[in-house]
Amino acid sequence: MTPFSYHKPSSVSEAVNLADQASRFIAGGTNLVDLMKENVVSPTRLIDITALALNGIEQTSSGGVMIGALVSNADLAWHPLIEQRYPLLSQAILAGASPQLRNMASTGGNLLQRTRCYYFYDTGTPCNKREPGSGCPARTGLNRIHAILGASDSCVATHPSDMCVALAALDAVVHVEGRAGQRRIPFAEFHRLPGDTPERDNQLSADELITGIELPPPAFETHYRYLKIRDRASYAFALVSVAAALKLDGDVIQDARVALGGVAHKPWRNEAVEATLKGQAVSPALFARAADALLQQATPLKHNAFKVALGKRAIVRALTEAAAGASTCRTAP
Ligand code: SF4
Repeated sequence: MTPFSYHKPSSVSEAVNLADQASRFIAGGTNLVDLMKENVVSPTRLIDITALALNGIEQTSSGGVMIGALVSNADLAWHPLIEQRYPLLSQAILAGASPQLRNMASTGGNLLQRTRCYYFYDTGTPCNKREPGSGCPARTGLNRIHAILGASDSCVATHPSDMCVALAALDAVVHVEGRAGQRRIPFAEFHRLPGDTPERDNQLSADELITGIELPPPAFETHYRYLKIRDRASYAFALVSVAAALKLDGDVIQDARVALGGVAHKPWRNEAVEATLKGQAVSPALFARAADALLQQATPLKHNAFKVALGKRAIVRALTEAAAGASTCRTAP
């Protein structure tokens, strides 16, 4: 591991004034410490943000909820406001990682975790995300876990988070602060597709710190489902996941959200497809058409064509179970 200096600021402004391209903010460290031990990233300065006052979960004046960036994944999943008003988010969080990791990992850090592409972690191989311009061995190598949507010649990695798929479906807003001030980033714009610059996972500048995540007023407390398909029943990243949320009047859909995980460089949504569900009566044929449309642009690689069929079936099942109502427990697979 490369030597680094350690700082523990007591305010957000102090933290962002310490930050630059060669530094990293650290909170739970559940991904960053692994990356440092493997020399995938080598910051020369660590800025420990755990003393900052970013631990609250509070209702906003608009009826939504503001989540501090340092709230642990576990505390967020089990908080009464989240369990009762945003159960899709609780279900997604509890589908991820392990209890020990969820106790350590922060909400802000969850957004910033890096891809689990094998080549990214193996410093003996090229990787455009780790070393821009070096190549992407996943394109022609082992690519079973890689992207089928939104990828580029430069990178076919997927974003690994479960929490982020639910946050995308719920239209969360990311609050950030940097030396230029504060700004709010709609969740759909926070993470990037790889394009020619896969080394950049998101829209943050080097000095910008996530301070919180805002959820709009709830609308999907009753009809929701986070469905995660993975190789093991626990402690495995999604091959495909679906965050489905419906607002129903009888069996007619008033509003619909479908976000996909495990298939792209960011949580994947298609609002045009969601719009086709509105005003329609719930039916297997309707959900099958939506699934086909959501994956119409899929371009699988040699080893991950199974994700297309799997994704379609997962979308139909998640929407069907969401329509049936909130009978699933928080940790349903
Ligand atoms: Fe690197 Fe992306 Fe290619 Fe994986 S898919 S080897 S992360 S460039």
